[in-house]
This record gives sequence, C-alpha cells and structure tokens, in this order.
Amino acid sequence: MISEYKPIKKLNPESVSKIAAGQVVDRPVSILKELLENSLDAAATEITVRLSEGGLQKIVVTDNGIGIQAQDILLAVASHATSKIREASDLKKLVSYGFRGEALASIFTVAVLELQSRTADAEHGTKIISNSTETQPVGMSIGTTVIVSELFSHHPARRKFVRTPGYEYKLCLQLIEKIALTHPEVSLRVFHNEKLVLECRSETLLERILSIWGSEYNNQLLELNMNLGMYKLSGFIAKPQRATHHGHHQLILINRRIVSHPRISQQIKESFRSLLAAKKYPSFVFELTAPPELIDVNVDPQKTTVRLAEEEAVSKMIDHSIKSLLRQHNLQFGVTTAVEYPYQMDFGIGKYLAQKTELWSLKDIEKGEILQIDNLYLVVENECGLLLIDQHAAHERILYDQLIRQLEKEKIDAQSVPLSEPVVISASASEVLILEQNAELLTKLGFVVQSKDNNTLFVQAVPKYLQKSTITSLFTELLQNLDTGTRTLEVSETIHRTVAYVACRSAIKAGEPLTKIERYNLVQKLKELPDVYTCPHGRPVSVTIGLKELAKLFERI
Ligand code: ADP
Ligand code: MG
Repeated sequence: MISEYKPIKKLNPESVSKIAAGQVVDRPVSILKELLENSLDAAATEITVRLSEGGLQKIVVTDNGIGIQAQDILLAVASHATSKIREASDLKKLVSYGFRGEALASIFTVAVLELQSRTADAEHGTKIISNSTETQPVGMSIGTTVIVSELFSHHPARRKFVRTPGYEYKLCLQLIEKIALTHPEVSLRVFHNEKLVLECRSETLLERILSIWGSEYNNQLLELNMNLGMYKLSGFIAKPQRATHHGHHQLILINRRIVSHPRISQQIKESFRSLLAAKKYPSFVFELTAPPELIDVNVDPQKTTVRLAEEEAVSKMIDHSIKSLLRQHNLQFGVTTAVEYPYQMDFGIGKYLAQKTELWSLKDIEKGEILQIDNLYLVVENECGLLLIDQHAAHERILYDQLIRQLEKEKIDAQSVPLSEPVVISASASEVLILEQNAELLTKLGFVVQSKDNNTLFVQAVPKYLQKSTITSLFTELLQNLDTGTRTLEVSETIHRTVAYVACRSAIKAGEPLTKIERYNLVQKLKELPDVYTCPHGRPVSVTIGLKELAKLFERI
C-alpha cells in the first residue's frame, strides 16, 4: 500500500525485460482484479464497483485513494509506466500489488477506457478518455474512477473466449469476495446492472468472514496468530465441522496477495487430516507474512503464483501451527438432526392416550453402561449428550495413532513377532521393487522380509498385531496399497498409507460382538486420544448428538 504520492515513471528497458511478461486482460474479471489492486495500492478505504452485464458491457471502479496528479495521468495509461517500482531490483522490497506498469495500458488497447483522478492537493480532477492524448479538468472528489466499456469490441477473436454475462459476473463476484476478505478494513459496495449486490462496511477480519461466507461460521472459526522467526502466520481456520464439499472457502494470502499455492493448500489439508471426513475441504483464510526478499512475486503476469525461498520450512511451520491450534480446541465430530413430528402430547389424541395408557419407566437401565448395536456401534452417554462410536473405525484409529507414535519413537521393533517358519510368497518384479523401496518403513513397523530372485518374498516376522492374519493375502494387499503407479508418494504419505492399512487389518471388525470389558476398554482408549474425529481413511470414528440436538429431536426447543 502506498501512502504518499510518487510520480509515475517509465521503467528502463533492462528492468522491463526482467519482469514477467504476458497478457493479463483476457476477461472482465482480470480487468476488475487489476483495477481493484490499483485502488488498494492507492490506500483507498472505500471502493465502489459497478458492473454491467457481468462486466462485459461496463466496469466502473471508484476509490477514495491518493489519486494521480494531472501531469502523470497520460503516463498512467502508458506501457511499462509505474509509480510503484523504479527498477527490477525494487521487487525485492515490494509492498504494492502492482509493479509492471502494464494493466491500464493493456486495458487501453482492448476497450474504451476513461480515467478520472484527483489528488488531495488538486483543486479539481483530471480525466482522459481512450484515443485522446488530451486531458480535461473534471469536478470530482479525491480519488480515482476508472470506467472500462466496449470490452473487446474491436477484438472479436478475444471476445470468443468470454462466456455469458452470468458466468463472467460469477467470476467477478468470486474475485470481489476474495478481495473483500483480504482487506476487511476497506468498505466495499458492489452493484450489478445497477442493483446493489454486496455491501460491507469497514470491519474486522472475523466480521468480514461472517459477512462473506455467512453466519453459519459464527463460533466456528479459530484464530491463528503465530510469530515464527521472520514469518507470521495469521487468519482464521474453521472447525472441521465447517469443512465444505466444494472447497471454495479457502483463501491463501502471502503478504496480502491472493495466491494459489498447491503446496500450502495441501499442507493445510494434511494438518487437518485426522479431523476431516473424506472428500471434504477445510475452510480457512490463511495469511503468511514474510520478509519481501524471501518471496518472489515476479513469476507470472497475473501475479497469482509466488515462490517462497524457504518453502520446506514454511510448510513445517504451517503444520505445527495448525495442529497445535486444533489441539487447543477440544472439538467433536457432530451431527445436526432435526426430525419434524407434528405430534403434540398435550391435546387431541396425545392427551387421550396419556389418560388411557399406563406409562412405564426406563429408570432401571444402569448409568454408564455401554450398549452395542448391530455388533458395530457403541452407544455411550457423555457430558455433551449421546456419543455413538463405530467400533471398527475407532479401534482402527487407536491402533493407527499407537503405530505412528511407536514409529516416531522407533521402538516398534520390539513388537515384531517371528513366525515359526518363514512364509514364502511369490511376487512380481514390481511388487519386489515396491517392497525394497519401502523396506525401511516395513522394518520399522515390525516386518522382517527378504526378497529372492526378484520373484519370491520370505516373510520371517510380522508386527504383533498381525500374527494371526493370513500372511499371504495380507502381503499382497499391503503391496497393492503401496503401489501408486507412476505417482511417487511423499515419505509421509507412504507411512500414512502403510500404517493405516496395518491398523485397518488389525482392528476389530464390524459384526464382532464385544464383551462389556472390551466395550469399556475401547471407549477408554478413545478418550485418551487428543483429537480423534475420523479413522485413517477419513470416515467418522464417533458422532455426538448433543443435548441441544436431542432436545430439538424431541421438540423440547
Ligand atoms: P502498476 O499498478 O503495475 O503500476 P497500472 O497500469 O495498473 O500499473 O497503473 C499505472 C499507474 O497508474 C500506477 O503505478 C499508479 O501510479 C497509477 N494508478 C492506477 N490506478 C490508480 C488508482 N486507482 N489510484 C491511484 N493511482 C493509480
Ligand atoms: Mg496496477
């Protein structure tokens, strides 16, 4: 953000050659992005956007920023002219969104552009319209208005790539929502075809998230705020219950720039892993603030990709900070169930039945008893209400955590049980290869296996949990599980898959009757784990039906 006026200057050819080149103006949303970034760079606190026909007909952005001085206004629309950097080396300390000095110039070539601007010390504004090299005075308040119309009217080829006004409008709105989340302190008004469609006053980030994503995020957001060396991680992460199927509620900001950074997205998801149901995306506004010299924004002309100098370290920090944030909050995988029964006990047939029927009581059921239903679900009363547990998923999860913990401590070898005689398994060359690639991990888990002639495996010992399994089929499945085709797995992913597999095979199955003691042990073990919501494959381990939900279910509230 720029707080004091700097004249616009042409960049020298050498700097121009170092700046990522390419077309940035391909559809209304890309124009809108450039205009909004310019307003934000000009320290605007109020921005109004007016779109007609999804921006295809007209885009108007008005701001109350620092404006452009009359003598600079022609330069503003000139190519490679910018007030934000003087030479390419300034990119190392960049604090603005813009730096290429190309946006207005490119818009100028594909549309009719009108630029009006007034600085605080000017008596009036100055305006310039496309195809004219003359400026004119104009009455206006301090700030800038850019009007873009007749987009691609002289570029039929490009017009072909844009879609319907409805679609272009959706893209514009999605962008505006993201930018709104990036700058909650800026008031924003958006009109589409002259109808007010979005209005946000200046507010905190938390308030802004609720304004944009909706009030269902109320009390569902955990604040992230950590300083780690030169980096700061901040923002809000929604509780796992608010994970979405669409994945649109994810925003990654690096030094306030909206970026797509697959590694960071993946890391955040990974850090959530045990808490998320399969195929769900966590919701978050995640901001990384880093010294500008450790970030390269000059990667693509749209500036949506940035390179981090210390990507590995940043990934680890994210993992650490998100996991500890989630652990601080004791969350439960929950359901909301509301059944609408029209029955009323106090009148009509209800009243009649109450008078006629002798009611019986259930009081003699022992408190704290754990019921098993369908040899699969355990039913437990807890302080929140009713806890339902999937016995297989829960046991699997407990074993998974145990294995991981043991693996971390490298004590797992002690758990290895030698077989009375080695089991010989014939395997394909690729299976032998997979085994060799994962040899270290398998050894740590307690397997002792040797390969011979590229087609035979000798299994000499297995983890204690698996001693009763059919070793041959276990191994075939295990190898299949580790085989990911051409995709090479990260070490952590391999460990996860293997351990998840071993845990799954060793866990009690659905359909197994459990004794009272076994039920009790399972529930106790589950309670000891810090943050368990899903099994290693992402299915829920337990579901709480809270007292409130129960009350709703029985229409008490
Ligand atoms: P860049 O943002 O990369 O510098 P642009 O073509 O987007 O290039 O803008 C050129 C220049 O015009 C900017 O450097 C800035 O000085 C000025 N400018 C553009 N939009 C605004 C605005 N809304 N408020 C103030 N100055 C602006
Ligand atoms: Mg710009």
